[in-house]
This record gives sequence, structure tokens and C-alpha cells, in this order.
Amino acid sequence: MYQHQEKNKNEIINQFCNHCGRSVKLGSGMFVNRIPDMNDLITRISNKRKFPKGDFVCIECDEHSERNQ
Ligand SMILES: [Zn+2]
Repeated sequence: MYQHQEKNKNEIINQFCNHCGRSVKLGSGMFVNRIPDMNDLITRISNKRKFPKGDFVCIECDEHSERNQ
């Protein structure tokens, strides 16, 4: 997990859910259960994410998407 120690990593990643746009930052209440979205921006846009710049999916949206598939 820690092979890359990037400086300013918190500024590079967008800590919000790309489905609902809610913050998943530390202290938001969504931090612990957030899921990193490995897709790139183009893939997220083509998947019709409402907030494609978000680098995470919150636990609620993840459960929804599994149920709907
Ligand atoms: Zn969400």
C-alpha cells in the first residue's frame, strides 16, 4: 500500500463520492468506508457519474450500485 509516498497527496486526490458528490474526507463520517474508484476521468464520464472528478465511491452508493446490477 505504501510503496509510493507522494507529497501533497491530499491535494491530488479528490476526496468526494463520484456518485453523490458527498465528501469522504477524514472526519466526514464517510472516511472509513469509502472505496477508491480506480477508473480514470474518461471512464467515469462514460459511466455517467454525476461527479466524475471524485476519486471515491461512498459506502451508500457502492451498496446501491451492487443492488442495481
Ligand atoms: Zn455517494
